[in-house]
Amino acid sequence: MSFSFRTFVALILAGLFALAAWGAGAAPPVRIRVLAWQGLEEAEVRWSSLMNQLEGRLAGRRIELRHFDLAGIAAALQAGELDFVVTNPGHYVFLEAERGVSRIATLVADASTDPAHVVGSAVVVLDERRDITALADLKGRSLAAVSVDAFGGYQIAWAELRRLGLDPEQEQPRPVFTGFPMSRVVEAVLNGDADAGVLRACLLERLEQEGALRPGQLRVLSPRTEVSTCRVSSPLYPGWAFAAARTTPPALSRDVLVALLSLSPDAAGQSWSVPADYHPVHELLQELQIGPYAFLRETAWPSLWERYWPWVCGLLASLLVWGAYTLHVEHLVQRRTRELTQAMAARQRLEVQLREGQQQMDHLSRLSILGELSGTLAHELNQPLAAIGNYARSLLRRQDSGNLAPAALRQAAEEIASESERAAGILGGIRAFARKRNRVREAHDPAVLVREASRLLAGMLPGVPEVLLRQDAAVAGLRVWVDPLQVQQVLLNVFKNAWDAQQAVGTERPIEVSLSRDGECCSVAVRDHGPGLPAELQARLFEAFFTTKPEGLGLGLSICKTIIEAHGGGIAAAGADPGPGLVIRFTLPLADGGATVFQESS
Ligand code: ADP
Repeated sequence: MSFSFRTFVALILAGLFALAAWGAGAAPPVRIRVLAWQGLEEAEVRWSSLMNQLEGRLAGRRIELRHFDLAGIAAALQAGELDFVVTNPGHYVFLEAERGVSRIATLVADASTDPAHVVGSAVVVLDERRDITALADLKGRSLAAVSVDAFGGYQIAWAELRRLGLDPEQEQPRPVFTGFPMSRVVEAVLNGDADAGVLRACLLERLEQEGALRPGQLRVLSPRTEVSTCRVSSPLYPGWAFAAARTTPPALSRDVLVALLSLSPDAAGQSWSVPADYHPVHELLQELQIGPYAFLRETAWPSLWERYWPWVCGLLASLLVWGAYTLHVEHLVQRRTRELTQAMAARQRLEVQLREGQQQMDHLSRLSILGELSGTLAHELNQPLAAIGNYARSLLRRQDSGNLAPAALRQAAEEIASESERAAGILGGIRAFARKRNRVREAHDPAVLVREASRLLAGMLPGVPEVLLRQDAAVAGLRVWVDPLQVQQVLLNVFKNAWDAQQAVGTERPIEVSLSRDGECCSVAVRDHGPGLPAELQARLFEAFFTTKPEGLGLGLSICKTIIEAHGGGIAAAGADPGPGLVIRFTLPLADGGATVFQESS
C-alpha cells in the first residue's frame, strides 16, 4: 500500500496547522467606531496611530477602526455592529441615555489634565473688532460654528450665551453653521462672513503654532482666567469618552481599558485616563433641552396629548361624572323644595281652617251653654223687670191718690235704677260671653277668673248653690297665662255639671273650688257633692258625645279638654274624698314663669 507512515504524520501536522490557522483567523476583531467630527480624513489621521498602539497591546486581537458621523454610529449601535465607541462628551451622554453605552476611559489633553476638565469653547473675533470685547457684546451680531451638534464647537458656547441672556436660537446672536472642518469657522471670521466664531479649546493655539493664523490675529472673548493651558470663553467639561456597547463582554472591556491606560501619549500629547463624571454634561444638555433632554421642548399640544391623554381623559370623565351628579342633586333639591313648599302651604291652609273651625266651635259651645241656661235666664231677667214694673205702677197709684211723698218717689226711682242695672249687668255678661272673637293670651289672677265665672253663673241660674273659693298661700299673687273667656267657659261648664249632679241628689251644699300651685302651673279643682261617677265612666267623661243626661249633647267636657290642652295644661276627673261627689281638676300655665304680682288687680 502506498499510504506510508510519513504521509500519515504529514497529514496530521497539516490538519493541526489548519486548525491553528482557523483558530487564529476566527478571533473576531475589536470593533471600534469613532465620531468623525472634523470629517473622515482628519479622523483617520487623528486616531490611526492611537489605534495601532492599542492593537499592539491587545495580544494579537485585531482592531477594526471605522469613522462615522452621528447617524452612522447610532445605526451601528442599533445593528450591534460595534464593541466600543469613541465620541464627544455630549454625544456620549446621549448614547448613554438612549443606547446604554458605558464609558471606560476619558481622553485627556496630557497626563496632568483632570479628565473632568478637558473640553471647552473659545469664541473668537478679529482682534481689530474693538466693538466686541465680551460675549455679551454678541447681541445683534452673527456667530459662526461648525454644526449645532458640535459639543466643544458650539453647544458649550451656546450654553454660555444663554446664561448671559442671549440665545442663538432666537437669532441673538444669529448663528452661521459652516460645516466641518472647523477651519471653516476661522475662515468665516477672517472673511467677515460672521462677527465671531466658536472653536473648540486649544484649536486656536494649534493653528497659531502651525502658522495658519498670525498670533493675536483672533482674540478670545471673555477669556477664563482659571484655565491656563489654552484660551477659552467657557468652563471646561469632561473629555471625549471611550465607551463600551451594552453587548460588549466585560472581559474585553477590561482588556481594552488596561491597554488604554498603559498607552503613552500620542503625537498630539493626548492620552487616556480613568473615566470622568459626565454630570456637568447632563446638566448642560438639560439646560439647552437637547440630546436626551429634547423631550423638554415638546410642549406642542399633540405631544402633550400623546403623553397625558389618559390623565386628560380621566379628568374629563371625572368632570362629566361630577357635573352629572351635581345636576342630579340640584334637580333633587329643587323637587324636594317644591314638595316642601307645597306641603307647608297645605299645612298653613289646614292650620287656618283648624283655627277657624276651633273658633267656630268655641262660639257654638258658648252659645250651647247659653241655650242650656236660657230657660232660667228668662226667669232671672223676669225678676228685675217685674220689680221695675211694680215700682212704676206703685208710683202711678200714689200719684193718682195724691200721696206721693218725695222720699217715696226717690226710693222707688232708686229701686227701678238698681233693678234695671242688675238686668243690664246680666245681659252685658251674656253678650260678652257670646260674642265672636279671636283667642288671646293674657296674665290673669285665677281667683278673679273663678269669681267672675261664679257671678255669671249666679246671674244666669237663680238658686245655683254658692261657689266656695279656697286658695293656697302659694298661689296668692300668681297670674295664669290664659284666654280669660275660654277659662270662664271651662269653669261655667264644670259648675253647670256640678249643679246638675247636686240637683240629682237634691243638695244645696256649695260647690268648692280650690287653687293650688303645681310646678309651673296653677291647679284648679272643682268639687261637688253630687252622686259622683263610677271609675270606668270617669275615664270616658272627656270623650265627645259622652253623656248620661237625656237632653245632654256630651260636648261640654270634650271642649273643656281641648281648651285646657291648647293652653298647655291637662284635665282629669276623680272621685271626691270624702265622697260622694266628683272632682274635676285642671291646670293652667303660670305667667312669667310663676313670678308673683303683689298688686291685686281684681
Ligand atoms: P253634657 O253635660 O251635655 O252631658 P258634658 O261633656 O258636660 O256633657 O258631661 C258629660 C257627662 O259627664 C255628663 O252627661 C255626666 O254624666 C257626666 N258628668 C259631668 N260632670 C259630672 C259631675 N260633676 N258629676 C257626675 N257626673 C258628671
